[in-house]
Amino acid sequence: MASGRKRLAVFKFASCDGCQLTLLDCEDELLALAGTVEIAHFTEATRTSLPGPYDLALVEGSITTAEDAERIRRVRADSRFLVVLGACATAGGIQALRDFGDVREFTEAVYARPEYISTLERSTPIADHVPVDFELRGCPIDRGQLLEVVTAYLAGRKPRIPDRSVCFECKARGTVCVTVADGTPCLGPVTHAGCGAICPAFRRGCYGCFGPVRDPNTAAQIRLLRTQGESPEQIARVFRTFNAASPAFRAAARSLEEEEEGGHDASS
Ligand code: SF4
Ligand code: SF4
Repeated sequence: MASGRKRLAVFKFASCDGCQLTLLDCEDELLALAGTVEIAHFTEATRTSLPGPYDLALVEGSITTAEDAERIRRVRADSRFLVVLGACATAGGIQALRDFGDVREFTEAVYARPEYISTLERSTPIADHVPVDFELRGCPIDRGQLLEVVTAYLAGRKPRIPDRSVCFECKARGTVCVTVADGTPCLGPVTHAGCGAICPAFRRGCYGCFGPVRDPNTAAQIRLLRTQGESPEQIARVFRTFNAASPAFRAAARSLEEEEEGGHDASS
């Protein structure tokens, strides 16, 4: 670029804007970068919208329409690095609950004129459509992790985001385990770290907002939840939230459903 500044662009797909708000919440840090970064496109923050190429594109949201499937390919072609933000962009988001039902039934139930709705059957993560350089987890993402990823890519190094479970964060902050101490169901052992183990710090179990950690032992997690009195149906529901369509959580919930269906068949 003539100015020598790195070009940053932010794009939204199907999402609630919560992850973009996390970026806006980094206002002070972004101002400090103002001399080295040009914000070329960020609809939530500025009316300026400049064409690519971009050094770094941040993408929030999942792909739910044919137009968006086409748009993300253009964003990818325009961007040197593409980083996706949040459960929507990394796993399909809460809107991927449509995957487990009939999307036409949903649109007919929600919209007065469903014939105007043009949508895909499924909500899919960005990586299902184009190559992605980094997936930052969370619903919403963590501010500190976002700043680390942005500054790392602008500086030309790999981001330092630990790939470990929420249980590590409990230990790091000295939180007494709610499962061990209180018998409270908690998804922390199979959930990616990043939130700082906020829920256990307030004596609640983890809800899995950051999605599955690498190689999660969901079978052991299911056994543990059973010993805490949770039914297969209840356990399937805890896997079906913000990251319901992530392969590991999807498979865990499906295994419980199959067990239920098998039980019903045997008793009928
Ligand atoms: S990941 Fe969560 S906070 Fe971020 S855009 Fe999606 S629904 Fe909103
Ligand atoms: S409270 Fe949950 S996340 Fe924390 S150590 Fe116990 S099981 Fe792990």
